[in-house]
Amino acid sequence: MAEWWDRAIRRADEMAAGDGSAASLLAFYARLLRSQKRLYESFQRGTPSGSIERDLPLLKKSASALLRDVADHGPDQLAAQARRVLDDDAGSTDNLLLSYWETRSDREFFAKAIVQPYALWLADSAVVPRRHDDAQTAENRCPRCGGMPQLSILEAYASASGDGSGRQLLCATCLKPWSFRRVVCPQCGEEDERKLGYFQSPAFGHVRIDACETCRRYLKTVDLGRFGLAVPLVDEVAAAPLDLWAQEHGYAKIELNLVGL
Ligand SMILES: [Zn+2]
Ligand SMILES: [Zn+2]
Repeated sequence: MAEWWDRAIRRADEMAAGDGSAASLLAFYARLLRSQKRLYESFQRGTPSGSIERDLPLLKKSASALLRDVADHGPDQLAAQARRVLDDDAGSTDNLLLSYWETRSDREFFAKAIVQPYALWLADSAVVPRRHDDAQTAENRCPRCGGMPQLSILEAYASASGDGSGRQLLCATCLKPWSFRRVVCPQCGEEDERKLGYFQSPAFGHVRIDACETCRRYLKTVDLGRFGLAVPLVDEVAAAPLDLWAQEHGYAKIELNLVGL
């Protein structure tokens, strides 16, 4: 799994070095991915229980390094927030992580950044996380951990197959994909093609906005058939101008990404 993180880090580094409008976002994201990889690797010494309450000591021990890195190198606002979390008593970090696990709010930057490697570790260890709600039974939530979809992926073979297969949603929490029908809104389940719009910009040939007129929500789709070297999680961040376009047109994202877009 180190290879999975390395691929994402390389892609973020590569695009941060370009002259795209999201270069500074990507430089920050590359740094964050490195911290998350270290967090993930630090977990390898233990065994997850699947209960976040029980795994909390392990999470917190490794999480402070990520917080310190953001405090030292993150954008001003996040750096100040990281310092506050570090200065607070241990109880507030507990609350932050526990409440994120239950609510999965995409406004909780640090909780999401820390929980992602944890949830991925659970998934890679084939440990089913214990949660208090039944959200994981919904088709539009991650079957492993109950997370929201961060983005949608069209597999390389998808455009060739006429049967509507080849689409996956990527979980915003454990970062694992699950299969999802091609022509349906992942937020409200709308299936009427006339209500589902796809918006593209010449600047991003393989990333598009999938928006729904019924619920006015959107997410981005990364089309691996158009560019097989894309790393969906990273390319989604790089296509930040598409988010600005969607928001200007009155669509709200189903799940904000780790850089807050
Ligand atoms: Zn998940
Ligand atoms: Zn919808």
